[in-house]
Amino acid sequence: LWSKISDYFKSDVSRTTYSTWVETAVPIKLENNELTIELPSPLHKDYWKDKLSEQLIEYAYKITKKDIFPKFVLKNELSSANNEDEKELKLPTFMKDTHLNPEYTFDTFVIGKGNQMAHAAALVVSEDPGKMYNPLLLYGGVGLGKTHLMHAIGNKIVKNKPDTQIKYVTSESFTNDFINAIQSNHTERFRQEYRNVDVLLVDDIQFFADKDGTQEEFFHTFNDLYEDGKQIVLTSDRLPNEISKLQDRLVSRFAWGLSVDITAPDLETRIAILKAKADNDNMEVPVDILNYIAGQIDSNVRELEGALSRVQAFAKFKQTKISKDLVSEALHGLNNNISKLNKSSVDEIIYQVANYFELEPEDIKGKKRTKAIVIPRQIAMYLSRKLTNVSLPKIGISFGGKDHTTVIHAYDKINVLMKKEKDIKAAVKELSKILGE
Ligand code: ADP
Ligand code: MG
Repeated sequence: LWSKISDYFKSDVSRTTYSTWVETAVPIKLENNELTIELPSPLHKDYWKDKLSEQLIEYAYKITKKDIFPKFVLKNELSSANNEDEKELKLPTFMKDTHLNPEYTFDTFVIGKGNQMAHAAALVVSEDPGKMYNPLLLYGGVGLGKTHLMHAIGNKIVKNKPDTQIKYVTSESFTNDFINAIQSNHTERFRQEYRNVDVLLVDDIQFFADKDGTQEEFFHTFNDLYEDGKQIVLTSDRLPNEISKLQDRLVSRFAWGLSVDITAPDLETRIAILKAKADNDNMEVPVDILNYIAGQIDSNVRELEGALSRVQAFAKFKQTKISKDLVSEALHGLNNNISKLNKSSVDEIIYQVANYFELEPEDIKGKKRTKAIVIPRQIAMYLSRKLTNVSLPKIGISFGGKDHTTVIHAYDKINVLMKKEKDIKAAVKELSKILGE
C-alpha cells in the first residue's frame, strides 16, 4: 500500500516536496483503517497534517476503495502514540463516510438504449436531491450499471455541494450495522447515523427480504428521511413487489417516487462501453476487435469489461497483438449463451473441471477414490446435472459408466458442502462462470 501511495505522491507533488516530506515518512502499521506513519520531526508532522493528509486519504481510497486515515507519530513517540491532536485531523466531507467510489461518475457512464431513462432520472435527482423523484428506485439484472449510477448520483451531489451528508450502503451493511447496534446497545447512534443524512443510497434492497427486524428499522429510517425531504435512492434486481418477503408497507413506499428499469445494453452501447474502457486503460484496440468482443458478450457490462481485461491479459501473456483469433481464444468458454450450454456436453464440463483442479479428464471419469479426485468428480457431476439437460443415467455413462444414483449422491453432497466449505463454493461458482452459466 505504502509504495503505491508514494508513487501517487511522486507523480503529483514536486520533487523537493517528495524527497523532503514523503520519502522521510515511514509506514508503521495499518490497523482498523488507521495507517500509522512515523515522521522524523514535529515540523514534518505539521506539514503532513496541513498539506498532505487529504491527498494521502484520497490515494489510499483510490487504491483500496476504503477510507483509511493516517495517524502521525514522531520517531520516539511510538509508545505514547495516543496523541489527541491526531484525532482533530480535518476531513473533507466527501472523505468522511460516504463510501462512494470516485470512479463511478456520470462522466464514465455510457448512455444507451437500456439505461437512458435510468440515467436521466439519476441526473435529475443528483441536480436537485429530494425534490423530484423520491425515492428513486433503479432496478434491473446484475452488472447493468445500477450501482454505478447510484454512486454517480452521490459523487455529483458532493461535487455540487460538498457539505451534503451522503451515505451509501448496501442493504447488507445496513442490516449488519443494525444488528451490531442492537448487540452493543448503540441503536441510538445507529439511528443518528442513518437519519441525519441528506441523501441515503441503499444498494440491492432485495437482500432485505426475509429480515423483518431490519425492514422495520428501515421503514422508520425511510419515513424520517422522507418527511424531512431528504433524498432516498434504492437499487434492486427486481421490482419491490416481486421481492417475496418484503413487507407491503415498504413495497408501497418504494413506489411513491419513480421506479426505472435498466435493461441489457444493445450492440452499439456495448461497443461504446468497450471503447470507453479501452481508452480509459490507455489500450489501443482496433474497432473491429471491439465490435467482435461486443458481439460475443451480450449479457452484462461487468462481463463485457471482464472480457476486455481477459483479452488484454492474454495479449500481454502471449506478447502478441490483439487479433480476432486471440480474442476467441481468450473468450473461449466464457460465452454465456444458454443454447450453447445445453450443447456444452458433459464432456466439456469434465474437461473444464479437470483443468480447474489440474487433473486429467481420465481421473474424473475413473474410479480412484482419493479425496483430491473424488471432490472434483462430484463437482463435475453436480455441474452436469445443474447445467445441462442430459438425463441422469446418461451423465453416469459419461463418467465412465457410473450408476445414476452416484450422480444424485454427488449432487446432494456438493449442495451440502457448498454451504459449509468456502473453497468448494468458490470452485463451483468459478466453474459455472467458465462454463458460461
Ligand atoms: P449492477 O449494480 O447493476 O450489478 P454495476 O453498476 O456494478 O452493476 O456495473 C458493473 C460494471 O459495469 C461496473 O464496473 C460499471 O462501472 C460498469 N458499467 C455498467 N454500466 C455501464 C455503462 N453504461 N457505462 C460504463 N460502465 C458501465
Ligand atoms: Mg450493484
